[in-house]
Amino acid sequence: DIAMYRAKGITGTAAVHFTPGADHTDLGLELRNAITDGQLYLLYQPIVALPDRRVLGAEALVRWQHPTHGTMPPQAFIPIAERTGLIVALSQWVLRAALSELSTWTDASLVLNINISQRDLREPDFADQVAAALDEYGIAPHRLTLEAPAVGSAGSGPSVAALRELGVRVALDDFGTGDSSLTMLAAVPVDELKLDSSFTQAGADQVPVAASVLNLANSLGLTAVAEGVETFDQASRLADLGYASAQGFYFAHPLPAAEFSELLTGTAVSPAA
Ligand code: C2E
Ligand code: MG
Ligand code: MG
Ligand code: MG
Repeated sequence: DIAMYRAKGITGTAAVHFTPGADHTDLGLELRNAITDGQLYLLYQPIVALPDRRVLGAEALVRWQHPTHGTMPPQAFIPIAERTGLIVALSQWVLRAALSELSTWTDASLVLNINISQRDLREPDFADQVAAALDEYGIAPHRLTLEAPAVGSAGSGPSVAALRELGVRVALDDFGTGDSSLTMLAAVPVDELKLDSSFTQAGADQVPVAASVLNLANSLGLTAVAEGVETFDQASRLADLGYASAQGFYFAHPLPAAEFSELLTGTAVSPAA
């Protein structure tokens, strides 16, 4: 069960022996090599249907197996990648690695979400790169959703439109917080809203927020996904509100590719009983 995944330390919350600080430049150089040297890998967190917990697909989440610092979470290197521009190469690696994995899942109804940065959307050929990768792995565009908290700043609108033109789906990540707001939604049409975990996890006083986001999604014809579901109570509350899909430690932690595949084929124990 999930406790087993936790105990094996494969959940992405394993200890991180890295202190962000003085050596960002070195880390930037190391990251450049890490992308080509195979030090990055992806975990897959199941996205499940509510209320039946059927696996609909997964969100790919990057990790860096650093030779001396150990496993590093994205917060420790994505900001560096964004500052140095390495994010463009990193996102291309993530895209191809994730689509390659998706191409091995025999159930063609499964979907895959990957995270991109706003910087990617300013690359003039980003949509072309995504189209090429989909073609390379023989993946139908509608099976891919690209997530970002901010998709609407200067120059990124055309990329979002081009991606959606391809049939790729675009999601506003962490919706309801920071950049991921109504302003963003009004600026650039998207396909999916991911309700930020702060609203999923909050107490009963926050229920109107989760309900309103769902209403908003429904009235705009968008999919709503609740993120960061950690408890049975949260899951049932969201299901009662009408959320049809969710992610969170309650259902499953981010899993190595092999364990996600086992979960799909039913050779592994089912998520949180
Ligand atoms: P995100 O896209 O909002 O991903 C959700 C984060 O919440 C993940 O953290 C996931 O492990 C964690 N999470 C999932 N369920 C739960 C839960 O029930 N409780 C709690 N407390 N946390 C939960 P992770 O993997 O550390 O990723 C953090 C952020 O890093 C992501 O937030 C995303 O913004 C960014 N990121 C991850 N992978 C990539 C990537 O490949 N490219 C880019 N550009 N950014 C990435
Ligand atoms: Mg995300
Ligand atoms: Mg999120
Ligand atoms: Mg986030």
